[in-house]
Amino acid sequence: MADILLIEPNYANKYPPLGLMKISTFHKKLGDYVVFAKGKLPDELAKKRWDRVYVTTLFTFEWEETKKSIEYALTVAKDQHMVFVGGIMATLMPELFHKTFPTIKLVKGLLNRKGTLGLPGEECVDCLTPDYDILDDIEYKYPVTDAYFLYTTRGCGMKCQFCAVQTLEPEYVPYISIREQIAEIDRRFGPKRNLLLMDNNVLRSNKFDLIVDELIELGFGKGCTYPSPRTGKPLQRYVDFNQGLDAKLLNEHKAKRLGELAINPARIAFDHIEDEEQYKRALELCAKNGIKHLSNYILYNGEDFTGKGQHYRADTPQDLFNRMKISMDFCDELNAKYGHDGKVHIFSFPMKYIPLNATDRSFVGTHWNKKYLRAVQRMLIPTQGKGVSTRSFFEADFGATAEEFLENLAMPEDLLGLRGHFVERKGESIEDRKKRYAQWEINHRRIEEWTRLYRSLGDNYTSYVDLIKENDFSMENYAHATTPTLRKMFIHNLSYLSILRNIKVLGVDMLNYIKFEFSTLYKELLKYVINSKYTQYSCLLGMLELQGTVFITDIIRAFIDEPYLHTNVFDALYKAQKSLKRIVLDTRSLHIALRYRLANAISDTELKNIMRLGLECDEKKIEQRLYQKSKQLREVLRSQNKDEIASEIMLDKIEEIIALLQKVYRKEVK
Ligand code: SF4
Repeated sequence: MADILLIEPNYANKYPPLGLMKISTFHKKLGDYVVFAKGKLPDELAKKRWDRVYVTTLFTFEWEETKKSIEYALTVAKDQHMVFVGGIMATLMPELFHKTFPTIKLVKGLLNRKGTLGLPGEECVDCLTPDYDILDDIEYKYPVTDAYFLYTTRGCGMKCQFCAVQTLEPEYVPYISIREQIAEIDRRFGPKRNLLLMDNNVLRSNKFDLIVDELIELGFGKGCTYPSPRTGKPLQRYVDFNQGLDAKLLNEHKAKRLGELAINPARIAFDHIEDEEQYKRALELCAKNGIKHLSNYILYNGEDFTGKGQHYRADTPQDLFNRMKISMDFCDELNAKYGHDGKVHIFSFPMKYIPLNATDRSFVGTHWNKKYLRAVQRMLIPTQGKGVSTRSFFEADFGATAEEFLENLAMPEDLLGLRGHFVERKGESIEDRKKRYAQWEINHRRIEEWTRLYRSLGDNYTSYVDLIKENDFSMENYAHATTPTLRKMFIHNLSYLSILRNIKVLGVDMLNYIKFEFSTLYKELLKYVINSKYTQYSCLLGMLELQGTVFITDIIRAFIDEPYLHTNVFDALYKAQKSLKRIVLDTRSLHIALRYRLANAISDTELKNIMRLGLECDEKKIEQRLYQKSKQLREVLRSQNKDEIASEIMLDKIEEIIALLQKVYRKEVK
């Protein structure tokens, strides 16, 4: 009996690792002890050494996480030559693995041949039933587990240049019966609700009718149900060809047969704008045959490629927008025609193209740039991976026209996330609602300002795109902003902290822009430094240097308008003045005034009056005021805290403050 460890690298993954599940079945049949780990083993098994370690691989851009798992496998294997690495990436980039890990054994391609693992008795690991039990070994929860994960065909044969299938599954197998596998899964692990078919191109099969017949016979015909294991109530069950259906190969007959299945959703790839007609034709065939839940994969960021016997040009951002809009518009048409007995829904799933040999996600297609790609990712966040389906969301998030989409792609990332209507919240107090609304208005003013600048560029908007295309908002790149408009637009991409820290590099012109032309931003900057307990003095230096006393009074004024009693800004402001060796006002006294207010030794009005003295830079009067109130402070604290154990500590602190004031005051009196 051997000890076998199976590892899936620690990346997020929707479906469980079928290959490892089948290897588990194989080893358990031999009587071996098998454990599955996500990334690495839990501590209690950390010291164990293993006879064989299998690591699966997936997308090439997960190379960093994959490397970590293999490095780990090498430390826990009894023999470094007994680490086996297989799966998609290992098959696509064997040289990289050989070079990085010379001792490992690579298992390339499918495990559908004799001897792939080099063990006796191994005929076809791929034909074995996956071992669902191993999923209980790990804490990670796959979003989809209550399903049979099977193949009714293998391979594809369409040879699209960007697709890995021709390397992974070079031979097309038109029919694999799943009857036996389902029976065995039922026997060993209990029945599953749904059926996930991972076929790459089932529509190419000349045994398609046989496959559909078998699926219906196995309980996956239209309207079929499954008794809930908890309540016994019938639940809808679904068949999902999760790799998509080839629009080019869908015809009347096949659509009719698909309509006999509990298919949900029917995924139709819309990889390129040039496929519009066949895509729409496929959608219509589905809708006509009662398949109302449709979805698509929309590949973007692609290069030009050949596939399905034709050449396609590299896609553009407009192509992505247009394909989503086509889906939306066509959905309305289909509903007008076929929606009488239930609406047709189309969910769009934009998928970023990454080349087969890329070891990270940084690839940028010919007509794309880093900023645009980042913006698409940002726009997709609210969908939570569920696709885009409603027009209202699509138009608000992506845009109503391709021009608006381009504008949104160029918009600063933070502003992208601030778009949208003001949404009422249940149970929110009037005060909170007012505050939230005020902030919403500010956010929208920022969006409007950026949009105003963008539109003022007219056809010259490309000069801005050139500036931001690398998604680089460093001061080095700012130096390339050659016009005032470009410089202003650049600023909207910076965080408040970055604006403050770099205000000298941004220059007096830009300070004037922030302060007078678009004063909302200056007010936000002041709010930002005031509303923190941890403002660092270093981020105040630039403004102080450029504006001197004016900056100090601006902060005090902003504080009077919207006080935040826990702020440390006055302390930081003192440190900043000290660092510049130019103390106009010892703002520590204002900091102390906050302590008085927090201890309830002075009222809001008294605090404001003290702050107003700060506006006049009348340090002496502030200190006098505080000194006069120090006795009162002591008394208030004593009476407030007499029963509390912590009161002594609190009093000590205040005594300290008073002592400091006395020192300052006495110095002044002398
Ligand atoms: S049709 Fe689909 S599965 Fe087949 S090669 Fe093209 S992209 Fe790959």
